[in-house]
Parts: sequence; structure tokens; C-alpha cells
Amino acid sequence: MKTVTILGSTGSIGTNTLAVLALHPEQFRVFALAAHSNADKLFAQCLEFRPNYAVLGSAQAASSLQQRLRAEHCPTEVLSGPRALDDVAAAPEVDLVMAAIVGAAGLSASLAAARAGKRLLLANKESLVVAGDLLLQALAQGGGDLIPIDSEHSAIQQSLPDDRSRWQADVRNIVLTASGGPFRQRAAHTLQAVTPTEACAHPNWSMGAKISVDSATMMNKALEVIEAHYLFGMRPEQIEVLIHPQSIVHSMVNYHDGSVIAQLGQPDMRTPIAYGLSYPARMASGAPWLDLARVGRLDFEQPDPQRFPGLALAFEALRMPVGACAVLNAANEVAVDAFLHQRIRFTDIHRINADLLASAQCAGCDSLEALAELDVHTRLQAQQRVAQLSPSGRGGAAQLA
Ligand code: NAD
Ligand code: MG
Repeated sequence: MKTVTILGSTGSIGTNTLAVLALHPEQFRVFALAAHSNADKLFAQCLEFRPNYAVLGSAQAASSLQQRLRAEHCPTEVLSGPRALDDVAAAPEVDLVMAAIVGAAGLSASLAAARAGKRLLLANKESLVVAGDLLLQALAQGGGDLIPIDSEHSAIQQSLPDDRSRWQADVRNIVLTASGGPFRQRAAHTLQAVTPTEACAHPNWSMGAKISVDSATMMNKALEVIEAHYLFGMRPEQIEVLIHPQSIVHSMVNYHDGSVIAQLGQPDMRTPIAYGLSYPARMASGAPWLDLARVGRLDFEQPDPQRFPGLALAFEALRMPVGACAVLNAANEVAVDAFLHQRIRFTDIHRINADLLASAQCAGCDSLEALAELDVHTRLQAQQRVAQLSPSGRGGAAQLA
């Protein structure tokens, strides 16, 4: 029996993880569930999975959840705050930690799980983007392992040899596939008018709001390029991105002998989640079988740099000092949030990301403290850019579409 903590249990990845665990009650027990503010959903999850601990963002919300659970005779103890996230990630009883918080907010708990030697199931790609070297060091110190949950990186891991020492010698490059999101065929000049609802309407995947917008700008793929660099030790020129609208080939590895090894499946996150939970064994995930005759055709195309200018920022950031990736991530988190709140246009996301990366002063920012400071500083600068670009900042004349 393995014990699991799920950070971000009320989100899209968290909910899918619980759906997979529910299929295997004889193999897994939930130790802790953590969420930011959705107390009603966390309440229902606690009643169903009866974890030892639940964590919410605020003390007030935690105490009210505690009362509701007591009234139902549920034994779960409710904690609050960021420190509690680290504690439930690192607790000695825990074997596996699903890191499914969105954004850099997930970094501290990812590091705590890594230092404590857990198996880290990493959905929170921002942890690696912000502090890739430090997270890998913490894993090496703790002696645990990291299994990527991002479907592309799960696919790459499944397509690489088990013997890591062969990776550099045998592999020519890796190819991350991308669906192209909802605006794959949209004329670039019309993108400034798209709404948050349109940007979140992903054709193949149902996901949280932030990653859905990232998929529409292809900043998600940019973050995944950085994630792949850290996970697989590939140089920027060894990482290629290819648009594949059907999202069936989840990514592939090109070998020097001309072989291409890929992982295929339905676009359903339960597959990489089950792979991470049961590795090296395989178990049922609940995802539907892939029927290639029904899919009929698989298409591939190069990403259009006019439509998706954000993709190039990842390669730029990887050639800059380490903190550049943290700057790109922080700028993007602020810009996406501002777009979701209709304070800036869709195309302003890229303007903010590109401007802040170009002016980034990140030489020597390789400690956790320096990266945290860089993150805070970048967020402030990004907020200022948002204020300038929002309709009131433009003198109140412009209206957002
Ligand atoms: P989501 O918005 O659906 O869920 C986010 C979860 O994090 C929620 O449970 C929320 O309560 C929690 N959370 C947010 N801020 C928090 C904070 N400050 N402290 C504690 N908890 C907090 O997001 P999602 O789509 O499930 O994505 C989660 C992560 O997984 C992201 O990093 C995303 O890039 C990655 N990911 C998601 C998918 C997908 O299919 N959804 C695929 C690949 C990778
Ligand atoms: Mg992905």
C-alpha cells in the first residue's frame, strides 16, 4: 500500500489523480489533500477519501472546513498556509507526492517533497522552470525520483532508454508535440480581439484556466521546452516543437540510427498520472482505448512564429543566465492573470513577456533566495506594464474586445 499526498487536489490534475486512485483502493491510500480556496470541493473529497490531513490557503477557511468535517464524523485534520503544504509533502508517512498546484506557488512544496526523498509526480512545470537546477539538486540529496506528469514529458520518458547514461550518446533530439490550441488556424492580426472564454476553449484537453491560456499563446510549450531541458539534460538545439492537432502522438525521441520512438494514446491526463503512480509497473487509468482506425489520420506542421511568438522566448531564456526562466515565468503568470480578468488583451501577454525578458537582470541569480527576489521584482514590473496596457492606463479611451 502506497501513501499519497495531492497538492492542488481540487484542480484538473488533482481531480484526475483522485479518479485514478479511486480505481485502485487496494494499492493507494490518500494521506493529504491540499487546495487553495475551493472548500466545498475539498470537503467532498475529504468525505470520499478520508485523508489524514487537508490543507486550505486561509486559516479562517480551514477552521470552517474543520467544523463541517467534524459534523460528518470525518477524522481529517485541517491545516492552513504555505508551511502546511511543505509539511504534508515531506511527512515521513508519505511515499508519493502529486505536485499539481498551478504556478510558482507550487515550488516550495515541490522542493520539500524532493528533499524528503519522495517520488515526486510533477505536474507543476513552473517548479522546474523557476528553479530547475535547485529542484534537481534537492532530488539528488533526498534520493527520491521525479516522474513528469506533463503528457509530453511522460511520453519522452517512456520513449527514452531506462539507462540514463545512454541518453546523450544515443539521442539526436527530442520532439515535443503541441496541439496548437484554439487559435492554430486563426489569422495572427485577429488575435488581439480574442476573449478569455475563447482562449480557454481548448480543442482536445480540458484543463485549468492558466494552462489553457498558456496553450492558446503556446507559452505552455515554451515552458515545456524549459521543463524538457532540465528533465532530460537536452541542449536547446536538441529540443524541437511540432504541431500535431490530434494530440495522439504525445511526443517522440529521434535516435542517431534514424529510429523514432513515440508514445501514443488518447488525450487524457489519467494515462500519464497512472504511469507516474504505478511506475515501473502499469495499471488501469480509466482512459478510453486509442482506436487509430477511428482517428484515421495524424497531421504534423511547423509552429507559425507570427501566430505564436512566445515559443521563441523559451529558447532565448535558456541561452541567458539561469534566472531568465524565472523572469519569463513570473511575467507570464501576471500577464495571463490580467488577461483572464480582462485587464489586457491576449496579444499583450506576449508584449509583457518579451519586454520583461529583454530587460531581465538575472546574472548570478542562482540561489533560492535570489530567485525568489527576482520573482517578486518581476511580478511588480509586470503589474506596472499591465497598468499601462489596461484601458484606464491607455487614458480610458481604448476598450478591450
Ligand atoms: P487548476 O487551476 O485546475 O488547479 C490548480 C490547483 O492548485 C487547485 O487545486 C488550486 O486550489 C491549487 N492552488 C492554486 N494556487 C495555490 C496556492 N497558492 N497554494 C495552494 N494551492 C493552490 O490547474 P491544473 O490544470 O490542474 O494545472 C495544475 C498544474 O499542472 C499546472 O502547473 C499545469 O501547468 C500542470 N499541468 C496541467 C495539465 C492539465 O491537463 N490540466 C497538463 C499538464 C500539466
Ligand atoms: Mg503538456
